[in-house]
Amino acid sequence: MTDTNSPDEFTTNVYYGDDADASYIEDETVAVLGYGSQGHAHALNLHDSGVDVVVGLREDSTSWPQAEADGLRVTTPDDATAEADVVMFLVPDTIQPAVFEAVEDGLEAGNTVMFAHGFNIHYNQIQPPEYVDVTMAAPKGPGHIVRRDFENGGGTPALIAVYQDYTGDAKAEALAYAQAIGGTRAGVIETTFREEVETDLFGEQAVLCGGVTALVKHGYETLVDAGYSPEMAYFECLNELKLIVDLMYEDGIGGMWYSVSDTAEYGGLTRGDRIIDEGVRENMEAVLEEVQNGEFAREWVSENQAGRPAYTQLKRQDEEHEIEQVGAPLRDLFEWEEESSDKDPAEVPADD
Ligand code: NAD
Ligand code: MG
Repeated sequence: MTDTNSPDEFTTNVYYGDDADASYIEDETVAVLGYGSQGHAHALNLHDSGVDVVVGLREDSTSWPQAEADGLRVTTPDDATAEADVVMFLVPDTIQPAVFEAVEDGLEAGNTVMFAHGFNIHYNQIQPPEYVDVTMAAPKGPGHIVRRDFENGGGTPALIAVYQDYTGDAKAEALAYAQAIGGTRAGVIETTFREEVETDLFGEQAVLCGGVTALVKHGYETLVDAGYSPEMAYFECLNELKLIVDLMYEDGIGGMWYSVSDTAEYGGLTRGDRIIDEGVRENMEAVLEEVQNGEFAREWVSENQAGRPAYTQLKRQDEEHEIEQVGAPLRDLFEWEEESSDKDPAEVPADD
């Protein structure tokens, strides 16, 4: 299921505007299938870059009139694919295999099948014919940022990768596509489908979405179980996380240590490794292995085929966690304070 690339295959070539040759995309017709977060941003940025774009949507899609109102041509996914040279799949990952099956007959020799995430290709949920190029152009940000950066004259960093190079021009075309959506204005990193998928899944499971929320909930529960007030526990373990992450984002871990008190720094340096200890590291390695050997992918595919029973139950459980009940009204209070921050301080009630 997974290819066995050696670590040195994980290259870090970075490309900017001058490196891309627009001629590889500017005379092509690009079908953008889906008009959600990524779809609308790719379609509009390509269109503004002078590329002929056709959006492919189901006839009953509520996005259809929206895409037309945005000045784009819209047709069904199979008609869009039939007329296109390049077909970018921006419907949800779990739906892509069915959409691929529906449009596959419209692919001609030398066409390109493109993705913004490598899951379905890497885990063989989609198997394109050998007579097309298969590439990736994946902005490292949500679609509304990709569109906003572009409209402001900038761009969002992006990844490109080549899985199958039938024409010999696959990489040049992927880079030209990345340029047309604004990526080279910020920097385009060359990667592989395997590296993009495995790092993306591991990151969201172990650190970003899974790891951080579990850390927050454990911290919250520890304080509340010890008798502290839920509101204090919420602020300490969830709300303040943003301040710390912002500091790390701006100036690295060192910049964060510099900004917090010496007491916080000493406490963190001496206690951090006791919380996230070797056992956690072993768990991370186990999670990475399930990503690498395809076990996670198989589980997620069959979970979807079964109608998402575990997903639905875990989602409900998470929504019912006390930290969510405590947090909602506190966040409302915070929004109100932000809106009124330009008011006379005397009008803002003191927090007691
Ligand atoms: P989304 O859920 O925002 O949009 C999906 C679009 O597909 C919607 O317009 C929906 O109406 C349409 N759609 C659904 N079913 C369809 C069908 N059967 N036929 C035609 N259209 C259909 O999706 P997204 O978040 O933009 O994700 C698209 C791709 O981009 C995925 O591969 C995802 O992994 C990748 N990606 C997303 C982000 C992000 O931040 N959202 C970032 C990088 C890559
Ligand atoms: Mg075609």
